[in-house]
Amino acid sequence: MSQGIRVPGVVLAALLILGGCTTAEPPVAAPEKPNFVVVFADDLGYGDLGTFGHPVFRTPNLDQLAAEGQKWTQFYVAANVCTPSRAALLTGRYPIRSGMTSSVRGVLFPDSGGGLPADEITIAEALADAGYISGAFGKWHLGHLPQYLPTRQGFATYWGIPYSNDMDKVPGSPDYRAEARANARWQADPADYNVPILHDEEEIERPADQYTITRRYTERAIEFIRANRDHPFFVYLAHSMVHIPLFASKDFDGRNASRYADAIEEVDWSVGQIVATLKELGLEERTLVVFTSDNGPWLVFDTHGGTAGPLRGGKGETWEGGQREPTVVWGPGIVSPGVVRGMGSTLDLLPTFCALAGVEPPSDRALDGYDLSPVLRGEGESPRNEMMYYQGVEIFAARVGPFKAHWTTFTNYRGENPVPRDPPLLFNLEEDPSEKYDVAARHPEVIDQIAEHVEAHKKTVEPVPDQLAIPLEP
Ligand code: MG
Repeated sequence: MSQGIRVPGVVLAALLILGGCTTAEPPVAAPEKPNFVVVFADDLGYGDLGTFGHPVFRTPNLDQLAAEGQKWTQFYVAANVCTPSRAALLTGRYPIRSGMTSSVRGVLFPDSGGGLPADEITIAEALADAGYISGAFGKWHLGHLPQYLPTRQGFATYWGIPYSNDMDKVPGSPDYRAEARANARWQADPADYNVPILHDEEEIERPADQYTITRRYTERAIEFIRANRDHPFFVYLAHSMVHIPLFASKDFDGRNASRYADAIEEVDWSVGQIVATLKELGLEERTLVVFTSDNGPWLVFDTHGGTAGPLRGGKGETWEGGQREPTVVWGPGIVSPGVVRGMGSTLDLLPTFCALAGVEPPSDRALDGYDLSPVLRGEGESPRNEMMYYQGVEIFAARVGPFKAHWTTFTNYRGENPVPRDPPLLFNLEEDPSEKYDVAARHPEVIDQIAEHVEAHKKTVEPVPDQLAIPLEP
């Protein structure tokens, strides 16, 4: 087993000077072909982890990993709702490029006939060139028809609910929003959401027993890790929680004041189980674990939704709360510990994993990600300096450096009644991460620069079929 390259202290000091390293911790020499585990929560807010400041929720495992690894305070997903965000993570491309964001629908539904096109290259497919085996566990939401399932996108196996856990709602069942607003501990009946569990491409359970869903996703992922302990692997563990309807298994149910807190505590437990397994198998020095969420908190569900902490807005919005996610990166053989205040994105995972695995990322298409592996090792600043905030197929806002310009704003999660802004709103997110104080009048030239950046980005986008607009064939 590779232990990485040992470098004598004097040589290391010279490398530090040559590399222009700016952090206190020495760089880490990464192992060859490390394993990758991505734990992707659903609708978790920026402020929902203890380590990100939540005063009530219990997330001891993630808090510990953040202390031992890196906490990224400006880490973004590439869309403010599930389907496009997931497409972006797995392909390293804004979902506008794959047709996985739409002008007519926010996400895929059980009556959708589209999905992530087969010619998109996922992390699993990119890593296969370096001899990796990949498993997907949990929520997929990139197409539930066989031709779109994980097994057709580079994953050797899949086990999970293929779309959101609130879909296939039984007509006449209780209105979740009304019930949730009245009671933080209101419990939905899993039978009211007739969602399936698929194993590979076969339906094995319906309706899914959602009480145990977090535990069972975790067990399947651990089983995969054990089976592939002698082989480089990529695990994509995409929890259905903490998306409504909220559920927790017996060990967590009722431990907290709110059902949301129970569900998040079990997701935290899941991460702890994964890490304990890696340690038991002696894989902790050669595995990178990334924890983040697909979009911000679903605020319309009151206490059944989370909080974006100091950030404005939440899920389905182009304010920071929609796309900035609480992100923890852990891997003692790879990651130099610390708080990273530079920008990062799920778009960057594909090129970063490729770099760490020693394989070239796809070169025949536009990629929107950066290789963050030097930052993980403690060798300098993040190369990411910009982020687009799409609402469907439109760019409502963009960030370059510390500044974010909004050309259109709205305050409800579906983007209804958008307000055009002319001049655009401008916020300095380093001074004002809460987007409270418009500084457009002071920096008109900055708005022009961001607009140029957006135009340059748009020129690289080629028209493709809208996958979310394709109906299911009868
Ligand atoms: Mg989501």
